[in-house]
Amino acid sequence: MSKNSLYQYGTIGSLMAGAMDGTDTINDFLKHGDFGIGTMDGVDGELVVLDGQAFKMSAKGYVVHLEGEEKLPYGAIAHFHANHTFTIQDELDNEAVEALILDKMRSKNLFAGVKISGTFKKMHTRAMPKQEPPYIRFSEVEQPNFYADEIKGSIVGFYSPALFHGTSVAGFHIHFISDDQKFGGHVLDYVVEDVTVEIQDYANLIQDFPKEAEFLDTEFDYSNIAEEISLSE
Ligand SMILES: [Zn+2]
Repeated sequence: MSKNSLYQYGTIGSLMAGAMDGTDTINDFLKHGDFGIGTMDGVDGELVVLDGQAFKMSAKGYVVHLEGEEKLPYGAIAHFHANHTFTIQDELDNEAVEALILDKMRSKNLFAGVKISGTFKKMHTRAMPKQEPPYIRFSEVEQPNFYADEIKGSIVGFYSPALFHGTSVAGFHIHFISDDQKFGGHVLDYVVEDVTVEIQDYANLIQDFPKEAEFLDTEFDYSNIAEEISLSE
């Protein structure tokens, strides 16, 4: 695999439609990179892979370091190295930061990796609570929200071209892990204070799928999938 490939296991669309069983181990997933996001078996929490270490922010509000045998239904991962780097020493909200990133990355029509590390004035996340089969739709799950002020940590995530809304989330899909590895989650909004922004341009996407009969033989209802992804992510 090229060092400039983004590897995706499963799709957001199938996850939304109920493919929530973990089918790929963290150890196998980590063969494809050292930087990534995802969720765990039964959409249990928010996965962050940073510097090759995998963490899960649980809906109960704490972070666990994953050992490797845990399974995930969905994740995206890459071997991270920055093609563009800049610093922000100013209080900017997520919309202002995203505008700067969009300006620096190679193209809105390619996938990009985004790492933002340093001090955040505000961080607002959520985390999915673990579901048990038979699964309800992702968009119907209540997600606890979490807030932190003046927190040091890293945003890890990816930009997807609009065309891929369905396989992933169009635009930015980012997760957070604090430096003390106690706080994290799926990022909803934030304000930076003193951060370094690193962007990786991907030349291609490798899309992998579960091979289990349960996935292969299910008739998924994708009729409202774009709206459900926009609502939930
Ligand atoms: Zn997420």
